[in-house]
Amino acid sequence: MAMTAAVKDELARVRSPRSCCRKAEVSALLRFGGGLHIVGGRVVVEAELDTSAAARRLKRDVAEVYGQASDLLVVSPGGLRKTTHYVVRVARDGEALARQTGLLDGQGRPVRGLPPQVVSGPACDAIAAWRGAFLAHGSLTEPGRSSSLEITCPGPEAALALVGAVVGPAAMRAARHRIEHAEMVDAAMTRTLADLGIFASVQPVFDALWGGPDGMYAERLGPARARTLNPFAALAAAGVPLAFGSDSPVTPLGPWEAVRAAAWHSNPGQRMSARAAFAAHTRGGWRAAGRDDAGVLAPGAPATYAVWSLPGELVVQAPDDRIAAWSTDPRSGIPGLPDLSPGTPVPRCLRTVVRGVTVFDPAGGAGR
Ligand SMILES: [Zn+2]
Repeated sequence: MAMTAAVKDELARVRSPRSCCRKAEVSALLRFGGGLHIVGGRVVVEAELDTSAAARRLKRDVAEVYGQASDLLVVSPGGLRKTTHYVVRVARDGEALARQTGLLDGQGRPVRGLPPQVVSGPACDAIAAWRGAFLAHGSLTEPGRSSSLEITCPGPEAALALVGAVVGPAAMRAARHRIEHAEMVDAAMTRTLADLGIFASVQPVFDALWGGPDGMYAERLGPARARTLNPFAALAAAGVPLAFGSDSPVTPLGPWEAVRAAAWHSNPGQRMSARAAFAAHTRGGWRAAGRDDAGVLAPGAPATYAVWSLPGELVVQAPDDRIAAWSTDPRSGIPGLPDLSPGTPVPRCLRTVVRGVTVFDPAGGAGR
């Protein structure tokens, strides 16, 4: 911890002459160090910091930049807390400060990332926001080990805002970040993922195994939260790029089972078309890995494919009967897929070929 403490001490002495930077730093210190609490119906803004220098800096800037008085409390070690902590609290005009710092938006809703003026502000403010976040909840590994800087974030929105403030949305999209096991994604987060082109790596068989009103999700999280999980249709509709997986061995390797699970989601409102689910399990994974030309059968594409034995005919299926039946006329250009209706056997793999080399051939002759 010596290195982290030394860097925090140094950062707490950095002078920011510009008010835009001081504002960005205060917003980040408050957002990452604690945030808003409702006490007796009133908004209390507070941040808990592990150095007195950072706490004094925050108290000073809250006074000088925003004209708000604050209390500085020293919390002695005890219980789970092994070191002294410093709490800066604004109780009297907490709501006013929360609005001034952008921690409450124009409608009075708490901002879960960082205020927009920080995320899309100038570079000086991105630096200031990182300084605030690091002072609030950052750490460095000691010299001699592989070096890393870590900032513990209050939620995924705050983490994305911090990264987005530095690199900007275009670079975020180009980097193709992805969130593994993107199961709990609400509407606001869905918009963020779509805006930044962040892939949602999802495991549809999780829903098949644990979804539904009597499933494990409902049992452990309650039915209301359980119903919001794995919102595949909402993600797809918002334009969030999807990549499917099995999380094997958590659920068995079974691509058709995954496509079926997405097309027959336990929550009918979150069902995807089998075609969209198929794309998420083929092209989607390659795209998440940065390859746009793979995952499709096309002239000139690498000969990476699987051959399947089907129990029946190829069909075009729309599991949601609110959607008009799609044409199965070949001229419609919609390729068929195996019938994946619940209860039907899934296709059996006859051969897997990777870049022209057979790697799986249960009938013998692999490698030919
Ligand atoms: Zn600035």
